[in-house]
Amino acid sequence: MVREKVLTPLEIYKVLEQSNCKRCMLPSCLAFAAAVISGQKKLDDCPMLTEEEKVNLSATLQKRSTATPEQSEFMVKLLEKIQTIEFSHRAPEIGAKYVDEHLHVVSLGKVFRINAKGEMRSECHIIPWVQAPLLSYVCHPTHQSVTGTWSSCRELNGGIEWQGLFTSRCEAPLRQLADANPDLLADIVDLFMAEEVEGFDADIALVLYPFPHIPILICYQMADGDLDSELTIFFDECCGSNLHIKSIYTLVAGLVKMFENIAKNHY
Ligand code: SF4
Repeated sequence: MVREKVLTPLEIYKVLEQSNCKRCMLPSCLAFAAAVISGQKKLDDCPMLTEEEKVNLSATLQKRSTATPEQSEFMVKLLEKIQTIEFSHRAPEIGAKYVDEHLHVVSLGKVFRINAKGEMRSECHIIPWVQAPLLSYVCHPTHQSVTGTWSSCRELNGGIEWQGLFTSRCEAPLRQLADANPDLLADIVDLFMAEEVEGFDADIALVLYPFPHIPILICYQMADGDLDSELTIFFDECCGSNLHIKSIYTLVAGLVKMFENIAKNHY
């Protein structure tokens, strides 16, 4: 899996006193961490940080790319929300396991362990496009089991507005990648515990599980004579009940970026 790092509010939060003393004029240490990432607060605004902690954090801040204020705010809301969730009840609803007070969620064949604060551990690095959608998946207010019925992006809740972006940022680049790298989709099956499936009008059709109840079907038809290649991504009908459409888009756009990196490094 591609190794990328992103600075999240949680990484700053871990270094803070976590007392929510409000001396930084914000309601909580988590809010302060998000404000630092978005540039609305400076590390100096927390009087509880030592000089050494500030130097180390500033070096990290300078090295890594930062999230937008909107993304940081979204992460903070998710981290606050996850602390209210009873993992032992939520685990079976979302196809996860509850082990030693952690949620174990399988994403593309890899186990992600999430603790009550929303901190994640995995055998691979936590990549940014997985982190927010995964927390969002765990926190989502409704959950439906996998149905086996496939829908296009526009047929999901709120999907019509996202179809244009989805086509241009997800389906089109993945089609170009598959055209240029004939082995890519077959390799994805092996690399990410996908399933090759029959019964679709495609040269290759595979089902990926970014999260247990978010199955994604990729159908690819190679170019043939004057006919261009075609690639369409479908979602199990349950996806619209299990994750907000914006998180679904983030997830698939992140997947496509990861496949681009794989193609760049391996072919
Ligand atoms: S001043 Fe520091 S310790 Fe106090 S709430 Fe703000 S970030 Fe947390």
